[in-house]
Amino acid sequence: MSWTALAINLVFAGPVAYWTYNDAKGRDANPILWAATALLVGLFFLGPLGPLGTGIVLIIYLLVRPKGAMRICPYCKKKALDWLAFCPHCKGALKRDCYRCFAAVDAESEFCPNCHTKLS
Ligand SMILES: [Zn+2]
Ligand SMILES: [Zn+2]
Repeated sequence: MSWTALAINLVFAGPVAYWTYNDAKGRDANPILWAATALLVGLFFLGPLGPLGTGIVLIIYLLVRPKGAMRICPYCKKKALDWLAFCPHCKGALKRDCYRCFAAVDAESEFCPNCHTKLS
């Protein structure tokens, strides 16, 4: 095994795995599994196939990951998928139920977007 080839592949697979982990974590979608797959594929195939494999894992991840806009969690300031009820990083409540119409409302918003009741 060539350590140089391993190092070159790690330079590519490392940041991809790191990015995938953070993105998957914010979307509550198996961050460790995706990061480990990107990293292992990248390091298993030495030479140009490694980065190619990591790239393919990344593309598959981008296709199957839970879709939706990201928002900043008001508690831990990390990115979380907009429609999650709880922050996947700190478990803080991102949504609460409107006491009048029971719509899911952003935890920090003052008015229910559905029935315009003033909350809290
Ligand atoms: Zn959080
Ligand atoms: Zn409401």
